[in-house]
Amino acid sequence: MRILLAEDDGTLRETLWQALRQAGHGVDSVADGRAADSALMTGTYDLVVLDLGLPHLDGIEVLRRLRVRQDRTPVLVLSARDGVDERVLGLRAGADDYLVKPFALRELDARVDALLRRAAGGLARLTHGPLELDSTGRTVTANGKPLNLTVRETDILEALMKRAGQVVVKARLTQQIGDWAGEVGANTIEVYIHRLRKKLKPCGVSIRTIHGLGYLLETAGEV
Ligand code: CA
Repeated sequence: MRILLAEDDGTLRETLWQALRQAGHGVDSVADGRAADSALMTGTYDLVVLDLGLPHLDGIEVLRRLRVRQDRTPVLVLSARDGVDERVLGLRAGADDYLVKPFALRELDARVDALLRRAAGGLARLTHGPLELDSTGRTVTANGKPLNLTVRETDILEALMKRAGQVVVKARLTQQIGDWAGEVGANTIEVYIHRLRKKLKPCGVSIRTIHGLGYLLETAGEV
């Protein structure tokens, strides 16, 4: 899993970075709120570990901006022992859980795992405009009527729906469908995107190509 770690205390950041890496996660770490905000706008993460007291842009504001973008990436907030108001503010701004400093690394591990599990379950039903995707049953409907998508088209649509409103980089799509061992060539994604576009067009959903970046799922009427 890919985790963004935002913590301005260098020693703590290094410790947390190592602990998360040891738990098998890919970790990007940033030391201030502005860097966290831009990392969240450009990258895709499965979880954010977010210190609330950050320079340049505080953690609450980073979190608030994330949720305004309709990004539901789970956020684990780190706060000071006496920061009750801060924690309440964090939870209200859309944090999923919090840890009070100082905490044991075992506890961090447990909270991170719990959030990732919860997020995986919460994504069983994805919606975007008229589309509804049932991740468990692998079925897609548009306005309640079944859309006839192949397994692979469903995989790609799922990756796009998980990040609806954001550009999904091509590498991420390739990674998402990585189980099609050896089959994903340079043009494979384009072929599936082309087929998906045709099937989604009648229900007013389109996939925009952002050249040099990736793809963006849009519904009619969106700018
Ligand atoms: Ca801090």
